[in-house]
Amino acid sequence: MPRKTDIASSHPEAVETTLTHTGRTPDDHFGFVNTPVYRGSTVLFKNLAALESEQQPYVYGRAGNPTTRQVEEIVTELEGAHDTQLVPSGLAAITVALLSCLSTGDEVLITDSAYNPTRNFALQFLSRMGITHRFYDPRIGAGIADIIGENTRAIFTESPGSVTFEIQDLPAIAAVARPRGIKVLIDNTWATPLFHSPLKLGADIVIHTATKMFVGHSDAFGGTISANAESWPDVARTRALLGFFTGGDEAFLIARGLRTLAVRMKEHEQRALEMAKWLEGHPAVKRVIHPALPSHPDHAIFKRDFSGSGSLFAAILHPQSHDNLAAFLDNMQLFGMGYSWGGYESLCIPSNPTRIRTAVPWAEDGTLIRLHIGFEGMGDLKRDLEAGLDRYLGK
Ligand SMILES: *Cc1c(COP(=O)(O)O)cnc(C)c1O
Repeated sequence: MPRKTDIASSHPEAVETTLTHTGRTPDDHFGFVNTPVYRGSTVLFKNLAALESEQQPYVYGRAGNPTTRQVEEIVTELEGAHDTQLVPSGLAAITVALLSCLSTGDEVLITDSAYNPTRNFALQFLSRMGITHRFYDPRIGAGIADIIGENTRAIFTESPGSVTFEIQDLPAIAAVARPRGIKVLIDNTWATPLFHSPLKLGADIVIHTATKMFVGHSDAFGGTISANAESWPDVARTRALLGFFTGGDEAFLIARGLRTLAVRMKEHEQRALEMAKWLEGHPAVKRVIHPALPSHPDHAIFKRDFSGSGSLFAAILHPQSHDNLAAFLDNMQLFGMGYSWGGYESLCIPSNPTRIRTAVPWAEDGTLIRLHIGFEGMGDLKRDLEAGLDRYLGK
């Protein structure tokens, strides 16, 4: 058995072991199990030789500290990446990753199923820098070859999309992109590194919103960018040039969340699946969109590329009046209505993809609701939803 401090370099087989041991060095902290919160800007050098050697692991707080570094070590190990950069939010991970591989005159192809702020970044920021974008059908797969242009430098994927849950054929997209020198980026927030390993499937850069499953308690923000060796220097440089810094307090909460990620994900997976199956039989429900259900249109790709499923899925309800929708959502006892997800508490929120989609217009009748299944009693959650759906049906 390697010493705890050697675990990161010994590549343990089980993710559970990585999650519990990687990034912790109790010997450096008087034996305390967890790496404490480091708060600090100035880091002192013992002497001129130490200053000039540039060998000190930490030289200035903005570049990281032991609390932020442990998060990067854990995620690097989980993703099988060259290295990982912690940034202040999921959206910052997306913007830094995109800026790391795009310059004026370049084009980025973005999945039509992307998280809406990702789209807005292309529309309102990249465009100002002379970086163009096109949105593409999330189910395009190898067909991406037909839309790649002379200036295409990056393909942004999100699989599954976090509102509409299309699974992208990442290996097919990467097989087209790689020989052309085009970078493939993925927002892997839904599956976490436990259930989907995009670098092994050909992606170059993997983004996580740590705010969601890593933190797991709806009480902190963060994002991670993990890259292969080729893409890493640009990611690290871009983060440094932009001056993003994640504080030790946030990093501590992310690390604490990660320690229990495996047990939480197993529990979320089982509960979300149980709820999705239960909803499939409900008269108010037109269809459930959950990649792990055989009814999902991309289920075959899901089974091929993912080893498990997350807490989040959607259901399309048969059309009803807006008043009925309000009666449903305004009177929920346990399900909260709010953005974000990944905490211990269940959430239910309506979303309208019609207003967002452009490459493949969303034409489906009915109301999409997105559910995150937390850790309340399943019977209590079902009763809450059952009563809500009765109100929706005007009963
Ligand atoms: C929430 C979310 C983000 C953004 O994360 P923040 O930490 O809120 O900035 C990005 N991608 C996906 C898929 C998300 O769900």
